[in-house]
Amino acid sequence: ELFVSSENQRADYPRFFRKLSTKLAKAARELSRKVKFSNSWNRAKLKVAKIHQSIKNSRKDFLHKLSRELVTKYNAIIIEDLNMRGMSRALNFGKSVTDNAWGKFTVMLEYKAMFLGKQVIKIDKWFPSSKTCSICVNIKTELALSERVYKCEHCNSEIDRDLNASINIREAGRTLLAY
Ligand SMILES: [Zn+2]
Repeated sequence: ELFVSSENQRADYPRFFRKLSTKLAKAARELSRKVKFSNSWNRAKLKVAKIHQSIKNSRKDFLHKLSRELVTKYNAIIIEDLNMRGMSRALNFGKSVTDNAWGKFTVMLEYKAMFLGKQVIKIDKWFPSSKTCSICVNIKTELALSERVYKCEHCNSEIDRDLNASINIREAGRTLLAY
């Protein structure tokens, strides 16, 4: 998923995008079996490059469309200011984070919002958005990455981890907007 919003919108890449990734893996495997610099190796190499390009283009189209939808719909968009490079190193998230789709997406959001006179507000990455209960505002001292459901020991609420965090980010942004 690219993001989970406080309205519980889960923005995921379209299915054709995953199909392309499978196609790419297959083409890369075929390429690895060819004799280097042979004609069939050249053809296989070109095929891999073409799929790469088409993944890049479809990702870009998807991010443009999604960011356009959001800035059209909302007057203010509040996001967590994530250090994706640091995060991918620390958590070993793999390609989805290292290709920096989130970074590109936030840049698109920012300039599209600016163009329409709307706001993108970034919440400091040290804000405990995941550890805070969005219902009673109690803050947990520990929250393992494996806990996908936030269980509050104070008010006994149970809520999806990402949804809980995004509600906290929205509220932090609202507080900033009120000043
Ligand atoms: Zn609570």
